[in-house]
Amino acid sequence: MAGSKILNIAELFYSIQGESTFAGLPCSFIRLSGCNLRCSYCDARYAVEEKGRSVTIDGILAAVGSASLVEITGGEPLLQANVYPLMDRLLTEGKTVLVETNGSIALTDVPLEATVIMDIKCPDSGSTSLHPDNIDTIRKRATGRRNASEIKFVLSSLSDYTWAKQIILANDLPAVAPVLLSPVKNLLPAADLAKALLEDRLPVRLQLQLHTIIWPEALRGF
Ligand code: SF4
Repeated sequence: MAGSKILNIAELFYSIQGESTFAGLPCSFIRLSGCNLRCSYCDARYAVEEKGRSVTIDGILAAVGSASLVEITGGEPLLQANVYPLMDRLLTEGKTVLVETNGSIALTDVPLEATVIMDIKCPDSGSTSLHPDNIDTIRKRATGRRNASEIKFVLSSLSDYTWAKQIILANDLPAVAPVLLSPVKNLLPAADLAKALLEDRLPVRLQLQLHTIIWPEALRGF
């Protein structure tokens, strides 16, 4: 039975969505354990390094309860095969499903009804491993459903910004998905990033992590 399938879970919690075009909305978070990358600024190291606990899909659905917006995140959630039956189940239950991924795993099997939020890792993250098919997959998803995907760059420096700008323009990314630029706290001042993208008239969204503003001391479950 699909409901008895198991996933390794770092944490299940209900909070305010801090990122993406859904920022500000109450959201149920499913954080899966394990990641294939080691980004310099990672704020979920516990999900990367700890094994987590085994929870069935039924158990996850019970924790999600009546929440209408659900985000599956990590770690890297697409590393666990049972994430796909989990997505199917959440969608069948009528949830709005967000899937946050680091971009290194093919997106082909993510249902069109789920919204992919895909990172493109910048050089200063120390992780540059975008799956070669993923930009094309996002392009195809955009023809199937408007805003079926969002693309995020986490920027540690203005040189990361220059690198991201070149990828955005070369691939005309704003034509296929909302593009989010998020400065790493304490490394790139948001005002510097705002100035740069305004000067360049780049059609992107400046994103500040809302949850870190609301709960600056929290280390997990925020
Ligand atoms: S991909 Fe995400 S979870 Fe994995 S190391 Fe990078 S920031 Fe952390």
